[in-house]
Amino acid sequence: MYKPTLDYAQQQDKEDKLAHLRAQFHIPKDPKGNDWLYFTGNSLGLQPKQTQQYIQQELDDWAKYGVEGHFEARNPWMPYHEFLTNSMAKIVGAKPLEVVVMNTLTTNLHLLMVSFYQPTKAKYKIVIESDAFPSDRYAVQSQLKFHGFDTEEGLIEWKPREGEELLRIEDLEKIVDEQGDEIALLLIGGVNYYTGQYLDIKRIAEIGHVKNCMVGIDLAHGAGNISPELHDSGVDFAAWCTYKYLNSGPGSLGGLFVHEKHAHNKDLPRFAGWWNHNKETRFNMRQPFDVMPGAEGWQLSNPPILSMAAIRASLDMFEEVGMEALRAKSEKLTGYFEYLINQIDTDRIKIITSSNPKERGCQLSIQVKNADKSLHKKLTENNIITDWREPDVIRCAPVPMYNSFEDVYRMVEILKTLL
Ligand SMILES: *Cc1c(COP(=O)(O)O)cnc(C)c1O
Repeated sequence: MYKPTLDYAQQQDKEDKLAHLRAQFHIPKDPKGNDWLYFTGNSLGLQPKQTQQYIQQELDDWAKYGVEGHFEARNPWMPYHEFLTNSMAKIVGAKPLEVVVMNTLTTNLHLLMVSFYQPTKAKYKIVIESDAFPSDRYAVQSQLKFHGFDTEEGLIEWKPREGEELLRIEDLEKIVDEQGDEIALLLIGGVNYYTGQYLDIKRIAEIGHVKNCMVGIDLAHGAGNISPELHDSGVDFAAWCTYKYLNSGPGSLGGLFVHEKHAHNKDLPRFAGWWNHNKETRFNMRQPFDVMPGAEGWQLSNPPILSMAAIRASLDMFEEVGMEALRAKSEKLTGYFEYLINQIDTDRIKIITSSNPKERGCQLSIQVKNADKSLHKKLTENNIITDWREPDVIRCAPVPMYNSFEDVYRMVEILKTLL
């Protein structure tokens, strides 16, 4: 059904019900004023035009009210994080009780491991993907070390098979089947940052739970990209950032999910601060610690409102469009991208991401034989912003909120000539 022509791509954009969203973003441009072909929404999402007003409003209210803004601001700062919860919960398929926006991703992973990584002498190992994002690997290694375990021996890697790029769920099953009695935690990227593989997280939860392992999911590349249905998946916890597909600005706050089954367990070990103490008595000050139920019970500090304002601006767009429509466009757009790449007459290119739309989000990871970083440089010189991963992979994410079929068409035309 796809066609490899500019006419066809432009026609798809005309028929695209979400095409108007592109104009609601700042698209970076070259010095001549041409739009960049921006394919790195998986690294830093573009800025919605309305973000500035949302932040400006909080600056204005701060100027106007000072400390009284906690209650008097148009969006009072005291409960500000609550304004984000419902939309965020919808995006990841969770109940509002299960979600909170706070801190940053790696910090949240640590706070979650304080509660959900409770190793014993016999059951202490952690399973991650062999190609886990470095921050996640360092985080679990430091947790092992913190609890007095060897970081080599305590870490089990779920690897692709010899000659393959993608993970197979039956290999995880085998690991847990054989070593589950020694495994305390599975911490897996729901969408792998490198290959773009979207794993079956419900299945991962089942596999882990058979052997009483806790199951946590890193959704840095999942939130706003795929619909993980966190509640139904049964995973114990999850964390993600909001600056990738959630377009909330560099270093913006992360999201955290704790499954409802843990929501009222006040005995879980956790770190405490005034922000996970009962809201009703928080300002009576001299109260003994009384933890809040649900994900809010992992907060520590009063949060940065300016960052939350940017998240609010973005989530309002997601709320308006809905993940279902975004996913539908995304499958089509990435499908078109895949189709065009497969049309290139060369044996130098291999897409390592799954060809099954159910097993990927919008990103395609393209391996280029005999390429080096100079290819990435040439792409950049041609206004194509992609992400290079050593030794030979270009990661490209056509994002349904702001990328067009024409972007994808033009990108592949240029890639073709560069090869
Ligand atoms: C982007 C990303 C991170 C980044 O962590 P921060 O704490 O936000 O700096 C961590 N893990 C994964 C899997 C990521 O994709």
